[in-house]
Amino acid sequence: NTSSGIAWRKQHDIVCNPSNFDPILGFGEVEAFPEELLQEIARSGYDSPTLVQSQTLSVAISGHDALITAATGSGKTLAYIWPMVVHINDQPHINPGVDGPIGLVLTPTRELAKQVFKYASTFIQSIGGKAMEVAGGNRGTWELTKELKKGCEIVVSTPGRLIDLVKKKGTNLKRVTFVVLDEADRMLDMGFENQVSSILGNIRPDRQTLLLSATFGKRVEKVARGWLKNPVRIAIGRTG
Ligand code: ADP
Ligand code: MG
Repeated sequence: NTSSGIAWRKQHDIVCNPSNFDPILGFGEVEAFPEELLQEIARSGYDSPTLVQSQTLSVAISGHDALITAATGSGKTLAYIWPMVVHINDQPHINPGVDGPIGLVLTPTRELAKQVFKYASTFIQSIGGKAMEVAGGNRGTWELTKELKKGCEIVVSTPGRLIDLVKKKGTNLKRVTFVVLDEADRMLDMGFENQVSSILGNIRPDRQTLLLSATFGKRVEKVARGWLKNPVRIAIGRTG
């Protein structure tokens, strides 16, 4: 069992005090960022964190679950991709052919999966890792499985496609310790609640889970209670 005994909740001094999540005002403040990641952020033209990134980075890097609501266009993708890269950077390397991904992002649609994949790919590559988007229709299960077996740290998928791939032994969720549920409100609108629950039921319970949503209401609150553990609530602006 490759997933047992891995001390994955490495604490980062600057941001590990749960009672004091200071907003991050500049990327250079984040001591947990590997140098290569900082360089890639600069190369990509990002000068400073957006509001939601400023609030989320310290919480997510410290290992807490979080429920994050902020309007579309506020920069939520990188608010979770960068902490995911930090998390993966702290893990023992994956064993290709045996281990599945460490980071998992679930999205409601293929289009969103593709967008998220681009960011995930750019930044995980900076530390020598790999991301794959498995929701798209072009590649069949056999082809995806072959590529996944070569080793892949981050998988981005829609819930149904991932369930199918796991069932066909294209990948496994044993090493997943960092899960992101992006556009959770839309996933609920599209009727994916049971599929997401079923996926999370197959991931180790001591994982870290982040839920992102453009809106916040009774339904999101209810699923968050089941899917997250003592989440930190981050709300930027009015989100319902
Ligand atoms: P959301 O998921 O909240 O709708 P996105 O993650 O799609 O937002 O980001 C919206 C846009 O903001 C993207 O074009 C992204 O590249 C840009 N962006 C993200 N972070 C920053 C930043 N720190 N500085 C400048 N632009 C950013
Ligand atoms: Mg988004």
